[in-house]
Amino acid sequence: MSVAPTTISRTEREPTPARNGERRVVVVGAGPAGLASAAELGRRGIRAVVLEQATGVGWSWRGRYDLLRLNSSRPFSKLPGARFKRGAGLFPSRDEMVSYLEDYAVRHHLEVRLGTRLERIDRGHTGWLLRTSRGDISADQVIVASGYAHTPFVPDWPGRDRFQGRLLHSAAYRNAGSVGEGDVLVVGAGCSGMEIANELARDGARRVRLSVRTPPNMIVRSPIGPLFARAILKLPPARADRLMNAIRRKEIGDLTEYGLPQPEEGVFSRLRRLGVAPAIVDKETIQAIKNRRIEIVAGVESFDRTAVKLVDGTGIEVDSVVAATGYRCGLEPMVGHLDALDRRGVPRALHGEAAAPGLRFVGYVPRPAQIGYIGGEAKRAATEIAQELSG
Ligand SMILES: Cc1cc2nc3c(=O)[nH]c(=O)nc-3n(C[C@H](O)[C@H](O)[C@H](O)COP(=O)(O)OP(=O)(O)OC[C@H]3O[C@@H](n4cnc5c(N)ncnc54)[C@H](O)[C@@H]3O)c2cc1C
Repeated sequence: MSVAPTTISRTEREPTPARNGERRVVVVGAGPAGLASAAELGRRGIRAVVLEQATGVGWSWRGRYDLLRLNSSRPFSKLPGARFKRGAGLFPSRDEMVSYLEDYAVRHHLEVRLGTRLERIDRGHTGWLLRTSRGDISADQVIVASGYAHTPFVPDWPGRDRFQGRLLHSAAYRNAGSVGEGDVLVVGAGCSGMEIANELARDGARRVRLSVRTPPNMIVRSPIGPLFARAILKLPPARADRLMNAIRRKEIGDLTEYGLPQPEEGVFSRLRRLGVAPAIVDKETIQAIKNRRIEIVAGVESFDRTAVKLVDGTGIEVDSVVAATGYRCGLEPMVGHLDALDRRGVPRALHGEAAAPGLRFVGYVPRPAQIGYIGGEAKRAATEIAQELSG
């Protein structure tokens, strides 16, 4: 069950008009990054209007699968100025995350304009013109926080449209019941793919195969994982990788015979080169791989009416395919014309600094324990905006 959308106390259908002489600051997106940005602006005496396309804050979290728990522990998953409620799990559940974000918005008196989708940002006479589903809004300062994991991405596999079984992205997966009891192929060995494969193997599917194109770096979920990651991120990547490899050998062991050899490129080198975070997994999932309840198979090459052809030439008959194949930022329609994105469609100015005068992006650095990291980006963006507005 997903959590029902609620309306928060200061949520308004129309934004409060900018007071005389006041410069308008607009934040796009009421997820962790947008809410933290607005709260940090508020802490510096700047009122911001938050535009949210959906009917509740924390919308991305409401739609995620039922068993999702954060892979970063509670102390490292909070936003500036608010802890999780007493009683929340050490790795908060999806619903605990949603209620945390709702409380956060209320506690910081944020003005969230729900049901307002930003379509595009253009340069205005003095600042920015935001084209929204409810009309144009001008702003002197804009923070875009519409999410790194914005648009579910499914590769354009040849024959995909002919497949008569069920094909869904992990963003549409809710629980084992979503795919029935047949043979399931999960594609992609990131956090979601591993977790979903394990749930299916445990709770329903007749046979679960996990299709892996590039063997993932893996880290066992641990309460102090984010603290350790922060410390180790300060080391040169090659040294940090060697340390992580040693930890993997000790905690996970050698999974080569099951189809998951340790990748040559380590956790931090891959993170730096491609922005790909490691898969954070539970020991139970590792055990399911070792018991072959999750069978590792090669990457997907193409689809047929009832079968999937793998890159090693094997063809497998499956009833359902869950594509845990990641997301795209989906920023092109909004800001693609402003020369602010790199070739992958990711903002070039990544850490809360200005991409253009008065335009910033928060929440686009994928890394373990991203939520905790977002707070720092939001603080930087808010501090710079405060300086610019006062200057
Ligand atoms: C399955 C999954 C699990 C994750 N688990 C963890 C974890 O355990 N720990 C961790 O630290 N990180 C985790 N992350 C990574 C990241 O921290 C989260 O994705 C987090 O929600 C990012 O926050 P955000 O505010 O940047 O984006 P989002 O939470 O995606 O929020 C973006 C908001 O912007 C809104 N929006 C989008 N486009 C528009 C538009 N055009 N106009 C108006 N509003 C718009 C959306 O509706 C949404 O409410 C996870 C990511 C995924 C995909």
